[in-house]
Amino acid sequence: MSTQIIRNARLSNGSHVDVYLNEGTIEKVNAYDSASAIEMADIDANGQLLLPALAEPHAHLDKAFLAERIHNPTGDLMGAINAIHASAHTLTFDDIVERASRAIKIYIKNGVTRIRTHADTFDGSTLQVRALRQVANNFHDECDIEICALIQWPLTGKKGEPSRILAERARADGADLIGGCPHLDTDPTGANKVFLSLAKDLDCNLDLHVDETLNADMLSLRDLAKRVIAKAPKCSVTASHCVSLGMQTKKVQKQVAQLLVEANIAVVTLPQTNLFLQGREHQSAMPRALTALCALREAGVTVMAGGDNLQDPFNPMGRADPLEAAALLVSAGHYFPEDAYWAVSSKVHECIAKDQPFLAAGSPAHFILTPATSIREFIAFANQPRHVYRRGILIYDSSET
Ligand SMILES: [Zn+2]
Repeated sequence: MSTQIIRNARLSNGSHVDVYLNEGTIEKVNAYDSASAIEMADIDANGQLLLPALAEPHAHLDKAFLAERIHNPTGDLMGAINAIHASAHTLTFDDIVERASRAIKIYIKNGVTRIRTHADTFDGSTLQVRALRQVANNFHDECDIEICALIQWPLTGKKGEPSRILAERARADGADLIGGCPHLDTDPTGANKVFLSLAKDLDCNLDLHVDETLNADMLSLRDLAKRVIAKAPKCSVTASHCVSLGMQTKKVQKQVAQLLVEANIAVVTLPQTNLFLQGREHQSAMPRALTALCALREAGVTVMAGGDNLQDPFNPMGRADPLEAAALLVSAGHYFPEDAYWAVSSKVHECIAKDQPFLAAGSPAHFILTPATSIREFIAFANQPRHVYRRGILIYDSSET
């Protein structure tokens, strides 16, 4: 493929443009020239809205669609974790591959070209990592899939040795990066220290489930940020959830947000799952279980949003569509619709893949064309047609189904 032009695309600001692509990347954006002829290789957008492709920064594809098989009796985080552990022996390689593949096909139809998925590691086994590695390889031409091995706790001391060894094995078996849950560890700050050291030894990035609790006394995020500032690791560090930050005073939220900026730690908020799992002990004035979105954004922290779990014991809902998270950012997180869309699309591509901003010269041509009149309407209706392009190639056209 050589030069190709997306003719007469409408941007979210209402302007109409011609976008020049070269070998699947953006070359330049010009004002729409209605006089020029459309060539065979060109894409006639015909005035449709041009948006960055969607992205899922935090999935658990190994657990997708387990809601019917594994029940969460209490509906909270520990209920889900205990239920998964009790049924881990029932999960097989082929079973994980089948469910994860089913999920990815839906993600792609919805316009997702990048997924970071976590993969459980149980009892010395890397089964989930290996299965998801195969899935990621199978979808290599349609979606960029990154695997984060979710290392069990405890991580510290003698008792943590098996988990530390397993992190090494998971990397060798195909995990791109590692993560875990320091707030569930007997020694959360010690776990932060071990994770940073493992990431260095295993030469990979880190994506942690951080403070997934409404307990304001648990704030391992502050320790993580301070450690990253002190050690200045080469790896990138992502903090997912950060629920308890939302329970702090505004002063503490601001202090921690400033530390995150200094540490260059990005935050992933996961509204759907945290609205489901948290808050059951607060039957009056129930907290929303979102992180301190306002303080984070005011400080300039990169905030992305994801769906987390997909129809499993952690979240019985979900349709593998980042527009769900975007809609919740608007209604539960008080984002403007455009900002919400950016948090589930270009911010993820820029932060995780280090892509150039959407439509900047040199950025990959991952985009969606839709007849929606605006981003707000696109999020609100959720079911409007989507033509999904990856590197300038059409990978899904909803009008053909
Ligand atoms: Zn998660």
